[in-house]
Amino acid sequence: MGTEHRVIEESLVDLQFECNLRACRGACCTMPGKYGAPLRPEEIPIIEKALPVVEKYLPPRHREEIRRRGFYQESGNHSSTICVNDRACVFVSYEDEIAFCAFEKAYADRQLSWRKPLSCHLFPLRVNGRGDPSLRFERIPECEPALTLGEQGGMSLIAFLEDALIRLLGNEEYAALRKMQDGNSDHSLRAASQTTELSG
Ligand code: SF4
Repeated sequence: MGTEHRVIEESLVDLQFECNLRACRGACCTMPGKYGAPLRPEEIPIIEKALPVVEKYLPPRHREEIRRRGFYQESGNHSSTICVNDRACVFVSYEDEIAFCAFEKAYADRQLSWRKPLSCHLFPLRVNGRGDPSLRFERIPECEPALTLGEQGGMSLIAFLEDALIRLLGNEEYAALRKMQDGNSDHSLRAASQTTELSG
């Protein structure tokens, strides 16, 4: 995929972010709406193949929906997972009332080698699409605790999404992002020390 996706707002490179599932309860998997996770065309046969494994992680109601309606829908040129009751992605599984991605769970259990749809892996970053390959930050109220946790722990969004960004951009482009981030922090450190010298 290489350089086509390079465009990322510089302000995003310095954003601090770390998902806080205890606070958000996996809200991004259960947002109200008719469309679930955006799917790339090449992901549909991968999911078809993974269904017998991933279904074991799903609530009975979600398995039933897949049997009845299939796991994805098309709208214009776009495909997405279906939702249950116009809310949870059909691939959600619950633990202590927290919504988890069933693919991610199967991946963690080494039942699948494919982690999850790229759009979910990248969230809260979104590829703009329609010919615009740049990445934007989708700021939703449910992610506010993740911004706080990121600030507290010093975790940058770029570092938190390392695996997903490498999947999208490749190692080289990802390394360039980290370099940009290091450059920014060197710059602010220099600015801070100049301020200290001036005021000291
Ligand atoms: S992206 Fe936001 S809503 Fe989704 S798990 Fe992370 S903090 Fe929660």
